[in-house]
Amino acid sequence: MLYEVADGNSFSLWFDSWFFGESIAGLYGHSVIQDSGIPTNAKVSSVVSAGQWDWPTTSWDLIDIYFVSSRIPITTGSDKIHWLKKGGNFTINEAWRTISPQSTKVEWSKVIWFLRCTPKHSFCLWLAFSNGHRTLDKLFRWGVVRNNKCGFRCGQVETLDHLFFECSYTARIWNHFLSLCGFRRSCSGWGDESDWCIQRLKGNSFKIWISKLTLAAVVYHCWIERNNRIFNNSFRSFEDMVLEIGADIDGKCRGLPM
Ligand SMILES: [Zn+2]
Repeated sequence: MLYEVADGNSFSLWFDSWFFGESIAGLYGHSVIQDSGIPTNAKVSSVVSAGQWDWPTTSWDLIDIYFVSSRIPITTGSDKIHWLKKGGNFTINEAWRTISPQSTKVEWSKVIWFLRCTPKHSFCLWLAFSNGHRTLDKLFRWGVVRNNKCGFRCGQVETLDHLFFECSYTARIWNHFLSLCGFRRSCSGWGDESDWCIQRLKGNSFKIWISKLTLAAVVYHCWIERNNRIFNNSFRSFEDMVLEIGADIDGKCRGLPM
């Protein structure tokens, strides 16, 4: 944001970033406020007199501020805040670009986000690729739960690797759909499985599209089933899971242009 000082009545003297994009308190510390004798809630107008900067010079820091601020023009009218440049308007797009200049495209983005994906399924898959699911091994480490054993009652500790798809319950579901998608292989834990998806689910063919759609649906339904088992004491059979996942995929395919 770009601060334009005019009458000085809108900006906090010490805490707004009107001083070359920084706040005075942030740059010089709170001792400069005490040295000045100017209240903490003062506006910039308290150091402007007849259109000129009028700082007290009772410390070396204040003398420094006095000289540095002399390079900040005081315009007429009311104070203004611009976005990035004078007259610039705020947009979400610009703001995102500004706060995330270092972001790079991750290699799994196309496995998750693609044409006609199911957003809530893709979000759940994004959490899996980002290691964002609060699996029981994490909750146990944080002291939130006392039991870290898999909700599908296989006796193993629930980790991301285990849940997707080392666990015999979820592995059976994913293997079933892998086979339906035309892949002859048996799945393993998420570390290997996510690598396989990145390497293998590339391109724009119908097979790749429906495989990605299926992966996201399977991860989503397994996560929901896991939640229901742990928190709601509610269970779906393998057959019911397969039917519901199949219905979601079928619904997407029916919406395809002929
Ligand atoms: Zn398990």
